[in-house]
Amino acid sequence: MYHMIKLPYDYDALEPYIDRKTVRIHYTKHLKTYETNLNKLLEGHEDITKGKTLAELLSNLDEIPESIRTGVINQGGGVYNHNLYFSILGKKHKKGPTGDLLNAIIKGFGSFDRLKSEMSEGAISQFGSGYAFLSKDDKGNLFIKKTLNQNNTLHEGLTPILTIDVWEHAYYLKYKNLRGDYVKNIWNIINWKMVEDLYEGCAFI
Ligand code: MN
Repeated sequence: MYHMIKLPYDYDALEPYIDRKTVRIHYTKHLKTYETNLNKLLEGHEDITKGKTLAELLSNLDEIPESIRTGVINQGGGVYNHNLYFSILGKKHKKGPTGDLLNAIIKGFGSFDRLKSEMSEGAISQFGSGYAFLSKDDKGNLFIKKTLNQNNTLHEGLTPILTIDVWEHAYYLKYKNLRGDYVKNIWNIINWKMVEDLYEGCAFI
């Protein structure tokens, strides 16, 4: 069994940038449905899930039987990606990254502002439903990737440490068609301590 995270804040904690209703429905309906569907799909497949975290399962797609592989990518990605998304949001956090993470950002992108603009551009330009991810390789190098649907970067050997969900359910109630405004505002509610912990390997999704 794989589980959705316990939401680390109240539904209204991300106001005014993401409204209470959106957080509640996104977490209790969308994420919950992915969790239910994933576990249903994996019933009888304990041979491939035993002892594996969800991240490990999604990192080795070749080991998943073809008959359920697409389903696991969709439903498992739905759980993993949302667990990451809800974990790296929050309020009253420090304004930006520091330490090793900041150094890696400067090395990879030149500056923190440049990271934000490149990641925003990826999120805004993702056609249809998907995500923008900031992910690290095993040497600590950082990469920005945009993905379709519930795909992520684990199967490329890149561990996501930050994401922007740009499915319409993440912003439509408040922002309607204005995805760019949602993406611009999300930088106000990133939990940089959590992103640093994920980068440093002190926290895991
Ligand atoms: Mn979502």
